[in-house]
Amino acid sequence: PVPTAPLRARAEIDLAALRANVRALRARAKGAALMAVVKSDGYGHGAVPCARAAVEAGASWLGTATPEEALALRAAGLSTRILCWLWVPGGPWRQAVEADIDVSLSGMWALREVTEAARQAGRPARVQLKADTGLGRNGCQPDDWPELVAEALRAERTGLVRVTGLWSHFACADEPGHPSIAAQLTRFREMVAYAEEQGLRPEVRHLANSPATLTLPETHFDLVRPGIAMYGISPSPEIGTPADFGLRPVMTLSASLALVKQVPGGHGISYGHHYVTPGETTLGLVPVGYADGIPRHASGTGPVLVDGKWRTVAGRVAMDQFVVDLGGDTPEVGAQAVLFGPGDRGEPTAEDWAQACGTIAYEIVTRIGTRVPRVYV
Ligand code: PLP
Repeated sequence: PVPTAPLRARAEIDLAALRANVRALRARAKGAALMAVVKSDGYGHGAVPCARAAVEAGASWLGTATPEEALALRAAGLSTRILCWLWVPGGPWRQAVEADIDVSLSGMWALREVTEAARQAGRPARVQLKADTGLGRNGCQPDDWPELVAEALRAERTGLVRVTGLWSHFACADEPGHPSIAAQLTRFREMVAYAEEQGLRPEVRHLANSPATLTLPETHFDLVRPGIAMYGISPSPEIGTPADFGLRPVMTLSASLALVKQVPGGHGISYGHHYVTPGETTLGLVPVGYADGIPRHASGTGPVLVDGKWRTVAGRVAMDQFVVDLGGDTPEVGAQAVLFGPGDRGEPTAEDWAQACGTIAYEIVTRIGTRVPRVYV
């Protein structure tokens, strides 16, 4: 339970914004269904509340990486279709079949394991065949596709397997004009056409992640699979800002200053003394650190809004806390330090943190740790 007293730190999750984002994404992909990608605890926002909100706003599928994530959604009472796509041998296939979860397969071993699980469960498994159209990660290589399709058809004839989807994932959809986009789209069409010529009749064909949902309508097919955009974050600065697409960031991360104190000039700050106060000044202690998911790479660079002004992480981020130089301002101890939020109240955004740390905003929100309570508003 989240205490009601002032919190050390909080990640406020604006579910109304998430619902509005889902509606905005659906409007961009008219004619396609929407799968809300809620893996990694809903990109750090909380998988179950975000999944519920997305379904309320019209998502008809949920997407997870691991089977455990998918089973947790079922355990929470969500009955929406779920696809989960990251399996290892010996995974909980039978539980997934019994929980009516669609499972993604990229290779023959997985087809064998899920068929056996369906036999044990006494009911057919719903499977989606994943093609590697050029990402070079998970998915069946084009050369191996005919064998996987043939085996899937054989398994369908036993009644133990039903192929519900054919799908793939982009490598560079967040880089407008990248030549791999057209190449992957062409290959996807070819691989889908081949599978359908052989006799597969999938309910859904899908390829589009957030950048493709936002900017590549020709990739929408039957279903789009946005993750980051649903949380109100742009997939990359090259694609545009969230506001360009009518999206609003969902998470606001803030902390209460745990100490405000005067120090003289020449004072070394935090481990290693990588920051030294240039003159007499005020320090604010922000009680979150790398154990809470604040990147240590933010040392000396991460922006924080305190009392209406942007301050920068002074010296190193420690496990549980970091310091900001308040330049002589004297906010009350307990005053709010806002690390990131939608940006329209003067605070930095997750994109600002990503830039400060040399990473992507996906990593900033996803890494916010379990010690930071999520407060749903
Ligand atoms: N589909 C798959 C298979 C994914 O792994 C992901 C996330 O990486 C997504 C969709 C959603 O991607 P994005 O957050 O860029 O929309």
